[in-house]
Amino acid sequence: MTLQASWVASANAPESDFPLNNLPYGVFSTDGTKRCGVAIGDQILDLSGVEAAGLLSLNGAPLLQNGAWNDVMAAGPAVWDALRSTLQVGLAAGSDQQSDYEPFLVAQVDAEMHLPFVVAEYTDFYASKNHAMNVGTMFRGAENALPPNWLSIPIGYNGRASSVVVSGTDVVRPNGQLKGPNDALPRFGPCARFDIELEMGAIVGQPSEGMISVAQADAHIFGYVLLNDWSARDMQAWEYQPLGPFQAKATATSISPWIVTRAALEPFRTSTPERERPLLPYLSEPGPLLYDIDLEVGLRPEGRDETVIARTNYDQMYYSAAQQLCHHTTSGCAMRVGDLLGSGTISGTEKDSRGSLLELSWGGKEPITLDSGETRSFLEDGDTLTLRGAAQGEGYRIGFGECVGTVRPAVDLPEWAK
Ligand code: CA
Repeated sequence: MTLQASWVASANAPESDFPLNNLPYGVFSTDGTKRCGVAIGDQILDLSGVEAAGLLSLNGAPLLQNGAWNDVMAAGPAVWDALRSTLQVGLAAGSDQQSDYEPFLVAQVDAEMHLPFVVAEYTDFYASKNHAMNVGTMFRGAENALPPNWLSIPIGYNGRASSVVVSGTDVVRPNGQLKGPNDALPRFGPCARFDIELEMGAIVGQPSEGMISVAQADAHIFGYVLLNDWSARDMQAWEYQPLGPFQAKATATSISPWIVTRAALEPFRTSTPERERPLLPYLSEPGPLLYDIDLEVGLRPEGRDETVIARTNYDQMYYSAAQQLCHHTTSGCAMRVGDLLGSGTISGTEKDSRGSLLELSWGGKEPITLDSGETRSFLEDGDTLTLRGAAQGEGYRIGFGECVGTVRPAVDLPEWAK
């Protein structure tokens, strides 16, 4: 696959995240009203406006007037394909629709981005083997690093949809219960080991009742975003047994504002790894289920330049989103349009490919040094974290844009909580 040229000139630059090949969907505003749009180069095509003007008809009913992509997702894969084909023709170089569409272009620098869909529910998984080995080694020792179920089950926990925020939203350091290994009793106060997790989020675009296969699950996925699962490690260490993370993961989960569709990622499919223990038949792969997506994490202290602290790839996962979604449905759990599935922290094999500070600083024992000369074991107030991701084609890239968040100080405790 090579670059598909657009009449929007900025989309044809090899370094653009949003060429015609991509066409990711988002929600933006310029005057307070949320509108659905598609990114093309450094512009957004206002699809709510295009539809309202009668220049686009999907399924015979308006689907783009609610400031969220849920209506389009609910309309199903035939509508997804029809919209993508329409846009690929209308935005292509030489299209006779250029004059129709041009009045509906908005510069991205003039737009505020919002959550692209109403998050129905949020589940987060634990599916990178390197990450599980690193964290397990720190928490339980090398011999017990991988839980006995890990090579058989895509492990996850049910998170909170209310914690999901769009890129650019500040993140307030949480207060919570803390108890270090040498403390006799717990105390309540600001998290001292606040961290990030570099993940991909898969967006469920079709509902299901009862168990669906891995192939069906793959077809139900509408698209992907970058996801930062902010994590309070000191709270997590005290609370996680026996029911898993709770408050440590409830502060915020940031996602990038553009949904990169499964269709745009098709040329970049890659296989899950060799299995050390055969998967049960229901989890076996009907084909390549992962994607070759380069990922990186930047950390910028307040008033300083950014340092890229980790580089890895989505192909490092042990379980794909389709396998996670299939497993999620096995109990009979109904899935809804707009469910968000976090991949789990993505870590490679090298030290600088680890997707959390917990791993990069090895639990705080080996602080990392930033380009500014400062060191970090965990996040400090004022730090800005930026996730980036892109699949690299020949002369073009399928970019995700950025997933950004800045850490703000914890709120002062009320007297009754001290
Ligand atoms: Ca996570």
